[in-house]
Formats: sequence, C-alpha cells, structure tokens
Amino acid sequence: MVDRPIASAVAPLSGARRRLVEELKGKGIVDPAVLRAIELTPRHAFVPSGVRHRAYEDGALPIGSGQTISQPFVHARSLELLRLTGSERVLEVGTGSGYQTALLSKLALVIYSVERVEALLRQAEEALRVANVSNVYLAVADGTAGWREHAPFDAIVVGAGSPEIPQPLVDQLADGGRLLVPVGDRDVQRLVLVERKGTRVLEQAYDPVRFVPLVGDHGWAE
Ligand code: SAH
Repeated sequence: MVDRPIASAVAPLSGARRRLVEELKGKGIVDPAVLRAIELTPRHAFVPSGVRHRAYEDGALPIGSGQTISQPFVHARSLELLRLTGSERVLEVGTGSGYQTALLSKLALVIYSVERVEALLRQAEEALRVANVSNVYLAVADGTAGWREHAPFDAIVVGAGSPEIPQPLVDQLADGGRLLVPVGDRDVQRLVLVERKGTRVLEQAYDPVRFVPLVGDHGWAE
C-alpha cells in the first residue's frame, strides 16, 4: 500500500508545533525566521503514518528506503548556520522526506532539491503539495555533482554525511555563497560551513552530528 500524507493543512497540531518550537528554543535555537518556519510547517505530513504520532518529538524517524528524516534540532541548527535572508537560490542535496525542503521554501527564494532514491522523491513531492509549497524544483540525481544547470547557488545544504567536501558543490557556490555539509566517517560527522569569498574558500566546523551516508561520485561508494 502506498503511504500517503494525510490531507491536512497547517492548522491541525499547531499546539504540538508550538511545543516543539519551545523545546528548540530551550536547546539554543534563536533565529526567529527558522523558528517561525518550523511553527508553520506540518512535519506530520512528511513522515510515514506508522510514526506520525511522533512527528513533533525532537527526534529522527524512519521514512523508508533505509533513510531517516533528521531530528528537528539538526534542521534548525543547519538552517540557522546558513543565515538565509529570503532572497537566495538554494540547492538541497538529499531531499529525503521533503520536510527541510519545505522549511527552506519559507526561508529563501527558490529551492532546487535532488534525491538519489526515486521512491522517496515521489513521496516528498506529494507531501510538499499537501503542504502548499510551490517554489521548489525536484530531481532524481546524484547530488554530489550539484545541479549544474541552475548553478551558481547562494546556499547549498547537504542532508547526508560525506567523507569529504564534494568539490562540485564548492564550484557551484556563488561569490559570498555558503555550503553546509556534514563531514566525517560513516557513523559521526561534523557540520562544516564552507564560504566562498572571491577566490578564497573559508571552512569552519560546528556541531557533531549523525547523518545517513551521502552516496555518490563525490561521497561514499555504494
Ligand atoms: N533532510 C532530509 C534528510 C533525509 S536523509 C530529511 O530530513 O528528510 C538523507 C537523504 O539523502 C536520503 O534520502 C538519501 O537517499 C539522500 N542521499 C544520499 N546520497 C545522496 C546523493 N548523492 N544525492 C542525492 N541524495 C542523496
């Protein structure tokens, strides 16, 4: 049976979302735009029905095909580090559930999101439709190569852990652009923020995190 998101808009569970926002504030998230996006986005529409009752807990959940929707705190932290202002063209690598795509759609101008597992991309597409998200373009592809046709990007966010910073993504950053990618081994990584300033590329490592592997030509082998 195909697991479809329930056809509900934003209003249901708004209390649960507000509680999640309070929890995230308590854990140190301060960016009002990020907190607002979380308050307005129906995370329950992006998770399978079997785990929907846990949609507003601050934890990762299985979404099928061996993948997970990340913990809300990790999404919030990542989006905070990207410091989006609303005018950016963004590339997301690893659409997964589409939940972070929906958050990004409220924080930037246009989102290009690539996912290597077609079944997940189709589910995400449906959930984004239910959540009334329209400024998003999706494709099934190896996102470690970026999305050349739409480059350069003002921001790139990678939702899976990589052994190193994928060079095509650095190459597809606009001047002043920011790339956030979890870098490390298969079990644990650190969020690394890469910033392109003219010909200079600055790197800074942040929180330890645990993502599923980024599988592709410039990530892990299958
Ligand atoms: N932010 C997403 C994260 C999903 S998990 C969410 O919370 O739902 C990471 C996703 O990255 C998985 O769906 C996985 O299939 C995808 N992925 C892994 N390697 C990829 C690659 N090279 N290109 C595109 N997607 C990839």
